[in-house]
Amino acid sequence: MKEENRNKENKLEHLCPFDEVCPVDSGVYVVGRDGSDDSHLWNVTDADGNIACGIFIDDTKCEVCRERYTCKIYQELVKPEKEYSKKMKLERIISFPYIGREYTGIIKKSLENLGLNVVLPPKTTDKTIKIGVKNSSDMMCHPYKVTLGNFVEALENGANTLLMYDSLGQCRLRHYHKIQEFTLKNLGYDNFELYGINRKNIFKTFKKLTNKSRFKLFLEFYNLYKNMKEKDEKRVWAKDKSNIGIIGEIFSCCDETVNYGIEGKIERYGANPYNTVRLTDFINRNFLGLHPASEKKYRKKAKGYFNGKLGGHGIENISNLLKLIDNGIDGVIHILPLSCMPETTVEPIIDYICRNSRTPSLRVTIDENISEANLETRLETFIELIKIRKWKKHI
Ligand code: SF4
Repeated sequence: MKEENRNKENKLEHLCPFDEVCPVDSGVYVVGRDGSDDSHLWNVTDADGNIACGIFIDDTKCEVCRERYTCKIYQELVKPEKEYSKKMKLERIISFPYIGREYTGIIKKSLENLGLNVVLPPKTTDKTIKIGVKNSSDMMCHPYKVTLGNFVEALENGANTLLMYDSLGQCRLRHYHKIQEFTLKNLGYDNFELYGINRKNIFKTFKKLTNKSRFKLFLEFYNLYKNMKEKDEKRVWAKDKSNIGIIGEIFSCCDETVNYGIEGKIERYGANPYNTVRLTDFINRNFLGLHPASEKKYRKKAKGYFNGKLGGHGIENISNLLKLIDNGIDGVIHILPLSCMPETTVEPIIDYICRNSRTPSLRVTIDENISEANLETRLETFIELIKIRKWKKHI
């Protein structure tokens, strides 16, 4: 039969690019045109003459006439998938990972205002983190694992369109959505789309998802920003309590499930948490390219410690730390997730600045093995020592 196929092949007017053994499944041969009037319609068949595969045909052009090839398998298998995609447009169920209770609620509201059907994943729990850890490489960033767990649970809850931020930056965040999509497909979740949202494609992507004009999208994004700003402005400097500055990786600093509600615990121990990591600052810097003039001198000094761009919030954290110290902060907590590249890089600089300025600092590393009781003990001791220090200064 193979010999017969070869003979058929020889009679073709021009060589089929698949005249070798099919790369997908050995033993599969291209035997030429299917006999229809369209001289560029090709079939790929197995040794028994059954149509077998056409996976690579979608993007292949005839070497002689430059026409695009197609085949019956392509029409039967690939095209229906594209039709599925069109159908999904009507029935999209959007989901995205948690990033703190309030921020998540604000983002959800905005997506709903754009007419999208949003289903949040179940709240992040130990089970969510375990799913992410089980399906990620050991040394991958902790936020990647948590958000992967969120996505698995969102898909189980019926979501079919997932959104993930794409930083377009220097660290792994720009690759999260690609690796997560790959992992989810390997786990057997087929019927979903995952969009990496970045400053370049945000309008195009949401136009596709919502079919709203750029103007309407702009108005909604503006409302989203305003609502976030209102939330961020609730963080104030206290006059009658010790102020504890928080710097670090954005996800771990903003999501109270991941950081075990560190801000609430600081308040409970009688101090004021002053979290410098805010989504509005992040939007200003990464989407709008805005850097407040008041921070220019800190930013310049922070940049001086490094050899160029660092990714994540490394430089912003040093800049925020310098500003906190200038404003008389009583203590600083540096929160970083396991294996975070920018945050581990800035660690020695943070230690150096705090030591030189005699600012007490506490480092909290977040991963799946962190113990809440251990965190509470360290935090309580840290705050007590700061209170005693402050009291001693005033006597
Ligand atoms: S900032 Fe850190 S945790 Fe976040 S993606 Fe980059 S390396 Fe990973």
